[in-house]
Amino acid sequence: MTATTQLQCVSCSRQYPLWELRYACDCEGLLELHTDLSGQHSLKELFEKRLLSRKLLDRSGVWRFREALFPVSAEDCVSMPEGQTGYYEVPQLGQWAGHERLAFKHEGENPSGSFKDRGMTSAVTAAKKLGMKLLACASTGNTSSSLAAYAARAGLRSLVFLPAGKVSLGKMAQTLGYGAVAMAVRGDFDDAMRIVRELALAGKVYMVNSLNPFRIEGQKTIIWELLQDRNWQAPAWILVPGGNLGNTSAFGKAIEEAYTMGWIAKKPRLVTIQAKGASPFYESYQKDFASLEPMAAETIATAIRIGNPVNFPRAVKAIQHTNGLVSVVTDEEIMAAKAAIDRSGLGCEPASAATLAGLKQLVQAGTIRESEEVVAILTGHILKDTDAIMKCQDLVCHEVDAERGAIERALDRFL
Ligand SMILES: *Cc1c(COP(=O)(O)O)cnc(C)c1O
Ligand SMILES: [Zn+2]
Repeated sequence: MTATTQLQCVSCSRQYPLWELRYACDCEGLLELHTDLSGQHSLKELFEKRLLSRKLLDRSGVWRFREALFPVSAEDCVSMPEGQTGYYEVPQLGQWAGHERLAFKHEGENPSGSFKDRGMTSAVTAAKKLGMKLLACASTGNTSSSLAAYAARAGLRSLVFLPAGKVSLGKMAQTLGYGAVAMAVRGDFDDAMRIVRELALAGKVYMVNSLNPFRIEGQKTIIWELLQDRNWQAPAWILVPGGNLGNTSAFGKAIEEAYTMGWIAKKPRLVTIQAKGASPFYESYQKDFASLEPMAAETIATAIRIGNPVNFPRAVKAIQHTNGLVSVVTDEEIMAAKAAIDRSGLGCEPASAATLAGLKQLVQAGTIRESEEVVAILTGHILKDTDAIMKCQDLVCHEVDAERGAIERALDRFL
């Protein structure tokens, strides 16, 4: 395996050495990792073989694919080991959406409870290799939890910026518990993001938001692992919620590379679903991606409450190259879908449920047809936002006297 990996500008294709510390091209374009993978078709067999391995790195759903990410040594890898998430066919949710051929990949089953761990294992590994000591991010709560956990594992410090009053208690507790220094910014996610970028450009911190190209590399493996779950038979459609659009970007790159390397015969079409109150990508899509108009974002799905997505140029490419589309759903639709997902036993946080809500809409519109297989990505665990369950699903735990007669009478009423 002698393929070399470089940083490459998404806008002008200029290349830089992989281990040069930079977040953007001189033209200000976003950077991504570029590896010449021609002739690497046989990697697929290697990835299959590793499913039987007991080595830590082979058991990670990220590092199992390491030859197609970037070169690192086993000692440098900071792994928990993440990934290896469940793939579920759930007929009752298919019925709910009016589409039988539906499966879910549950990324809430990662070590810190969201898909962010896949990008964080790769970003923290890169940070360690680069000799960085203080790692920072802006976050709506999941990136910060993930960074705090992986930085702790690596023995590095983490500094996180959160929109004040807009982070769920579970995510906040998790972030603090793992040992991050946290700042509640009086502003929204986009303000927090601006501050981290300024600090990073001034050389004060190493930024691990999905602007960081190493994050994208780890998150590609959501797609590769789901293809592996399906014996490398691509579904017709893949649905994912979109906020800062790191996942959308990573999925586009993963699909493109899997197709180029001949691991799959056809490309799945990528659908990004946004919440109506936080839908700048959708608005741009409506105008053929001519421009991006940032907006003041508001939605109950706090993980996608983002009005100025930093990955916009990469995400546009992802939608265009997969013949994909962008859709939008209301908070009411999100919470109805979430209740259905919770009751199926899978459970998820609100942002994840945008996928099922979006599917229902696209099926009704006739865009997704009966014969086409759909995989929806559940991005976060049900326990990430317990407030949203108790507020929206009208649930009660019945308080009873500790006496059998009273309980039997209560059962008559509630069962
Ligand atoms: C971060 C996050 C998203 C949004 O992903 P982007 O890559 O920012 O578009 C969606 N759902 C959950 C649970 C998240 O944590
Ligand atoms: Zn450039």
